[in-house]
Amino acid sequence: MVSTIDNQSSPPPTTSATGTDPIWTGSSHRHHVVIVGGGFGGLYAAKALGRAPVDVTLIDKRNFHLFQPLLYQVATGAISPADIASPLRGVLARNKNTRVLLNEVTDLNPETQILILKNGDALHYDTLIVATGVSHHYFGNDQWQTIAPGLKTVEDALEMRRRIFSAFETAEKIEDPALQKAWMTFAIVGGGPTGVELAGAIAEIAHGTLRHNFRHIDTSQAEIILIEGMDRVLPPYDPSLSATAKESLQRLGVTVRTQAMVTNIDEQGVTLKQGDTTEAIATKTVLWAAGVKASSMGQILADRTGAELDRAGRVVVEPDLSVSGHGNIFVIGDLANFPHQGDRPLPGVAPVAMQEGEYVAKSIVQRLKGETVNPFRYLDLGSLAVIGKNSAVVDLGFVKFAGPLAWLVWVFAHIYYLIEFDNKLIVMIQWGWNYVTKSRGARLITGEDARIVDPTEVRQREPEKALTTGGR
Ligand SMILES: Cc1cc2nc3c(=O)[nH]c(=O)nc-3n(C[C@H](O)[C@H](O)[C@H](O)COP(=O)(O)OP(=O)(O)OC[C@H]3O[C@@H](n4cnc5c(N)ncnc54)[C@H](O)[C@@H]3O)c2cc1C
Repeated sequence: MVSTIDNQSSPPPTTSATGTDPIWTGSSHRHHVVIVGGGFGGLYAAKALGRAPVDVTLIDKRNFHLFQPLLYQVATGAISPADIASPLRGVLARNKNTRVLLNEVTDLNPETQILILKNGDALHYDTLIVATGVSHHYFGNDQWQTIAPGLKTVEDALEMRRRIFSAFETAEKIEDPALQKAWMTFAIVGGGPTGVELAGAIAEIAHGTLRHNFRHIDTSQAEIILIEGMDRVLPPYDPSLSATAKESLQRLGVTVRTQAMVTNIDEQGVTLKQGDTTEAIATKTVLWAAGVKASSMGQILADRTGAELDRAGRVVVEPDLSVSGHGNIFVIGDLANFPHQGDRPLPGVAPVAMQEGEYVAKSIVQRLKGETVNPFRYLDLGSLAVIGKNSAVVDLGFVKFAGPLAWLVWVFAHIYYLIEFDNKLIVMIQWGWNYVTKSRGARLITGEDARIVDPTEVRQREPEKALTTGGR
């Protein structure tokens, strides 16, 4: 069942809380579409509405679109944050019907069709598209968040990068073998695509990039452990590809622990339960790639519209991606649970968000013309996951393969989907250079590393220095 929307713009609202920026309601005659979130879903919807006879406002709390699939490359020093970020204003500059607002949506009133923004402003919509994505999920153990950061934002990637590279720096300064080993042990929780990518990249850093960069430690002795609760890595993939991915990881020097449940994470390391056995792994670097939960807009929509949420807090949508009983509110991308195709909800991947964005844009125009709108159908073009240089797995449904060819497919798919031409060019050059030299030129340590709290840990070699240099 597909709902309809009015082709008349409803009466404009009201006030600007700040008084500095009058509320923009679009032209008084045109239908006003407000898109919340400039990720894959929101941006593709906005782009598709560029020539539509509507006014569009895209609101995001960041001023850029982030290409999340390459975040792990920022986290591991291969590329810089700007290489995978595109300013939303720039991307949408040619869409004359579109305005970009840097702000955060904190509430909505579906009866008056008003959004409340973080600075207190109100914004009226005729049609609302919510595409605010998801964040990390620690399954009731939020205290692990500071010890085991996840990877979702640029800040997360920079935090991971700081932790990975300062772990080697700290190990270089330590004499105590046990403590040194803990700094040179990296545990990645979650054997999905992100966990596999991170584990493979850290192994390449330890065994390749940094190999001859240190004098006190041998970085190739670093231990990289990938922990997965299920019986194989890349659980949603075909078992044969999971097996290939595991072998490739092992060849890179990654220890793969499957059917291992993490029961605790603290400053000393990770505790695992495998069957009846409990094991403590001493490590100073734990990275989280295990779960997602809906962004806060999911709960806001549930509270205000009565929308059904799934266990991860995602909004269960109708076949046309609208919220049940609210034909002018659509939820797309990672925040949406679309249960109408296959026996499982659609996966939280970029192509789903992009296709949903384009579908909703098209369906808004169709409705305004009074045309019939067909339900959304996702066209699955396949899945890719990268393990390391020359190593990836590809599942196109009718054919599955791994190795260097799969890696090339992965490389070109990711270059192709980078939003701007500048990004494509820079990343291509950077990857070409990294491929030839094995280098990772963006391995800067910026900011403070919160883990280095005990100065005695890193100063264990300083008494020697004091003896030889004397005091002044
Ligand atoms: C590390 C990582 C690796 C990935 N790798 C792949 C991959 O290889 N292939 C693949 O297909 N997919 C991959 N994904 C998944 C893919 O990135 C997501 O499926 C996709 O980004 C979802 O798009 P979206 O538009 O729903 O949300 P997002 O892209 O997350 O965008 C949400 C936007 O909403 C904004 N926002 C949130 N709340 C508010 C608010 N209240 N007000 C205003 N703005 C708000 C955010 O700032 C953000 O810009 C990966 C994801 C991650 C995190």
